[in-house]
Amino acid sequence: MPKAEAKNCVSCGVNLIERGYARFPCPKCGNELGRCVSCRHQSNQYKCANCSFEGP
Ligand SMILES: [Zn+2]
Ligand SMILES: [Zn+2]
Repeated sequence: MPKAEAKNCVSCGVNLIERGYARFPCPKCGNELGRCVSCRHQSNQYKCANCSFEGP
């Protein structure tokens, strides 16, 4: 099984169905994180659910 895909924005929790969202690995643990368009544009903080890494 591949790693679970990020289905929700890690900052605001919205479902990632709109185009323009970003998926990226957590810089610390590599867990996949997703971020929606608006949170990308606002550079909202995010927190990895796996390792509690917080970043912009
Ligand atoms: Zn968001
Ligand atoms: Zn992490």
